[in-house]
Amino acid sequence: MTKYICQRCKNEITPSELRLLPGVKCPKCSNRILMKQRSLIAKPVKAR
Ligand SMILES: [Zn+2]
Repeated sequence: MTKYICQRCKNEITPSELRLLPGVKCPKCSNRILMKQRSLIAKPVKAR
């Protein structure tokens, strides 16, 4: 599941919350710039 994070107040917005909103914006501060955040698990990449 992809979460969104507000760039201004770092509020986490779930996709279900986004669906309730009239547009893509932060429900707390009305900031429109949201960052997509997928899982934070960094996959190690082999050098070869
Ligand atoms: Zn915000």
